[in-house]
Amino acid sequence: MTAEILDYDDALASYDPVLGLEVHVELNTNSKMFCGCSTAFGAEPNTQTCPVCLGLPGSLPVVNGAAVESAIRIGLALGCEIAPWCRFARKNYFYPDMTKDFQTSQYDEPIAYNGSVTVEVDGVEYVIEIERAHMEEDAGKLLHIGGATGRIQGADYSLLDYNRAGVPLIEIVTKPIRGTGDKAPEVAKAYVSFLRDMLRSLGVSDVRMEQGSLRCDANVSLMPKGETELGTRTETKNVNSLRSIERALRYEIRRQAAVLRSGGRVIQETRHWHEDGGFTSPGRSKVQAEDYRYFPEPDLVPIAPSREWVEQLRATLPEMPAVRNKRLQAEWGFADREFGDVIASSALDVIEATVAAGATPAGARKWWLTELARRANEADLELTELAITPAQVAAVQRLVDAGTINDKLARQVIDGVLAGEGEPADVVASRGLAVVSDSGALEAAVDKAIAADPDAAQKVRDGKVQAAGALIGSVMREMRGQADAAAVRALLLDRLS
Ligand SMILES: [Zn+2]
Repeated sequence: MTAEILDYDDALASYDPVLGLEVHVELNTNSKMFCGCSTAFGAEPNTQTCPVCLGLPGSLPVVNGAAVESAIRIGLALGCEIAPWCRFARKNYFYPDMTKDFQTSQYDEPIAYNGSVTVEVDGVEYVIEIERAHMEEDAGKLLHIGGATGRIQGADYSLLDYNRAGVPLIEIVTKPIRGTGDKAPEVAKAYVSFLRDMLRSLGVSDVRMEQGSLRCDANVSLMPKGETELGTRTETKNVNSLRSIERALRYEIRRQAAVLRSGGRVIQETRHWHEDGGFTSPGRSKVQAEDYRYFPEPDLVPIAPSREWVEQLRATLPEMPAVRNKRLQAEWGFADREFGDVIASSALDVIEATVAAGATPAGARKWWLTELARRANEADLELTELAITPAQVAAVQRLVDAGTINDKLARQVIDGVLAGEGEPADVVASRGLAVVSDSGALEAAVDKAIAADPDAAQKVRDGKVQAAGALIGSVMREMRGQADAAAVRALLLDRLS
């Protein structure tokens, strides 16, 4: 069901994209938003429910104080004002994942509003204005059984799991983001990445996109260049990885540009992102806010956080990512470009942990941005999902620094750790990877190489040191890579002097 799409550069030559990002964050409170049920992920279906989160008649909700505290801290970290008084509202809709036929949310009285954050792409700073961050509850989960795609179309029947119904959510909504030009998809990715880091440092959510505890709806519309009136937007729902956000937006920009270029109109609708095919397809036509018939929730008292409490919470905010970035770049002595690569690869946390485990910043950066980034990319994993820890990477680097292994052998050690063969030192022992320091074996290999290539040996004797390269190469081959090249070179030059 792929549509006509325009070349990306061609699309950007005629249109300016305007973004809008809605991010849902599941809070990591122990209990749900309005009842005492557990929020633990992965339990048997429908074992974490009660009359309140099942919406049974006569049950009454009570607000989770820990969730309000997290909401305020998130609002403060986003630079928002915190409402001195706000209420919950009922968002009415009928769908089996919401037993009450309404979602308890916030509408015109969010707990936090008017914030802004700054993200950086290729050395350029973009200010993202935050319209609001409001509290609500998650819906249950529908499982469609029997279809090929896991979607409702073609399924034989559907199952419902209400364990997730009532889990506290914060929805963070941006104002329209203009002026990003061809960088729009990357700015969106940088923003969600920023949120993920910020929420993690606040400790308020697991922020695991693959488990749905951080979900992004990406809105985009196009304006003909030179115009200021917003075009019609589409909303691509529940994009579940950083890479997909960038890809989905890039696709939507190209698709909308093709529609507009051919004289058509973009339809306001939700769309689904298909990770495998790399395209979006139409969902439902977008419901307008008035269709939800919002009204203030009569069963919950308003929230009126005191200014003292808000200031106490402000004092608990950790170092914000932008400040931390500047500090780490200075501590590690990385050039802007080097540090930019670290950020772009989402490698900041793992490198920091690797340095904390005893590696040099340059050593930690080298392994995570080359060897490990390549493997993560091949396996379509995040760096943190690789089966190697920062402490193990630091151990590999220490083995290199100690001369036990060289870089080439280190790659085999990493292979072993990733294959589950144990700690780096275990892999060195079990695979017999240590650099041969037995000088007898090394000297024999050097003598053999000299005997096999007398011409090169004579050149070195005559002072043409660069001719030693071929001899070093044959010694390394003889030693199956398990020699220290610098030691081989020294020994060769000594022999031929
Ligand atoms: Zn419950």
